[in-house]
Amino acid sequence: MKFSDLGLNENTLKAVADVGYAEPTPIQEKAIPEILKRNDVMGIAQTGTGKTAAFTLPMIDILANGRAKALMPRTLILSPTRELATQIAECFQKYGKYQKLSMALLIGGESMVEQQKILSRGVDVLIATPGRMLDLCERGRILLRDVRVFVLDEADRMLDMGFIPDVEKIASKLPAVRQTLLFSATMLPEIKALAKKFMKFPVEIRVDPPMSTADTVEQFIVKTNERGKREVLRNLIRAEDVKNAMIFCNRKKDVEILLKSFTKHKFSVAALHGDMAQGERTDALNAFRDGRVRLLVCSDVAARGLDLPDVSHVFNFDVPVNPEDYIHRIGRTGRAGKTGRAFMLVTSRDFKALAVIEKMIGKQIEEMSRFSVEMDPEPEPKPKRRGGRGGEARAKRAETPKPEPKRTEKPAKAAKPAGKTDEQAAKADAPALKTAKPAAKKPAEAANGNRRRDARGAKNGDGARREKRAETAPRRQKAFGDAMPAFMMNEVKIS
Ligand code: ADP
Ligand code: MG
Repeated sequence: MKFSDLGLNENTLKAVADVGYAEPTPIQEKAIPEILKRNDVMGIAQTGTGKTAAFTLPMIDILANGRAKALMPRTLILSPTRELATQIAECFQKYGKYQKLSMALLIGGESMVEQQKILSRGVDVLIATPGRMLDLCERGRILLRDVRVFVLDEADRMLDMGFIPDVEKIASKLPAVRQTLLFSATMLPEIKALAKKFMKFPVEIRVDPPMSTADTVEQFIVKTNERGKREVLRNLIRAEDVKNAMIFCNRKKDVEILLKSFTKHKFSVAALHGDMAQGERTDALNAFRDGRVRLLVCSDVAARGLDLPDVSHVFNFDVPVNPEDYIHRIGRTGRAGKTGRAFMLVTSRDFKALAVIEKMIGKQIEEMSRFSVEMDPEPEPKPKRRGGRGGEARAKRAETPKPEPKRTEKPAKAAKPAGKTDEQAAKADAPALKTAKPAAKKPAEAANGNRRRDARGAKNGDGARREKRAETAPRRQKAFGDAMPAFMMNEVKIS
């Protein structure tokens, strides 16, 4: 199947040819003709399968007719994070370059004044994060009654981040007669319910089984104790043939601590988490994409769905609380038919979470025991709690499967030496993504400026604060050290 078989117009095809895509991906092949027919579409396909182009390309075609009026965007795309919103904007710029389209990017962390100026001139495409969008709607600064196409991208992530109430409020301001497109990497019952609410007889397109760990990823666990985690990780990275790696932590605090520790040990490293100022996030991402830094330490929220280069290794510094995050994390490696390696540090506290993951992927993850160190004693079972939270705790218990597979202490299974040279060709494959300037640019001083101010969203509206709050690691109980003041955290440095 070729792009020219999908019914796209000449200008769009020319832009696609310029980008160098040989043929549409499966989701593009199926979704584009349906969107051009003006059907509502629900597209489910794994991260990295080209969902952005699956909706931007036909939208550019649809937008070729008609003009925008002041304050009334013709299409609205909601995206859960600023980075993802920026990526979508970049796609519109790339694919729409032979067509005159105006676009505004409404995201927290960028100057609201600039964004409003663009809006007041009238835009064809409005790309926004839900919090910032709702802010403007509530202030009456934007009218959605001319929106003909509404896109909900990364719907599963929206759900995880608690944005659905905001999305519903925004959707209630849209005209009833419109086209709605929903894209998601996973198909949860909640997503189905959303689709039912927002869409009319949607065409459902699914590519790939919803939850399969790529066969091209070799997965290992390494046992460790709490204190030894960082050293174990360093040993692993030194021993493995790491071209570039993503290291996932469950908490932002640990992202910062790891960044500091790696920097101290002279590793080439950057960090990415939701509390960083927008300028820092962009810098870190670009440095990692361009290969200027080899390791990217990040939180799930900051990394999910981002178009990052294929990496040779994924390290799970923590066992993810949400087993689906494991799939997303390791999915960063072993792409495009190459093999990748994924390691997860496991402490005595993690056996339950590990069992849930293993149940989901349907196999036990092999231990790379030559890197394992002695574990802490298993924590005492928590005393029964009284009062308010009992229900929640009960629900949690019910979720966790009871029998934990007893891990046999296999002796070092002569793990292969580090010299796996399968990743040499990886460089050629990394997408040459030059970050185009976002539509609205924040003054340069803010980029290296005050993280605390930005984290509090002082100059952002209430919505931006809401976004901020949602951008924390999965809901969990407070742990010691959470309230670490910002001055104790070091700045992100990119070496
Ligand atoms: P998703 O939203 O499904 O996670 P993206 O839309 O971010 O995926 O696309 C992932 C990568 O695939 C991007 O680098 C994009 O440029 C690339 N891509 C998209 N469509 C094609 C195609 N038809 N051929 C080759 N690469 C593509
Ligand atoms: Mg996407």
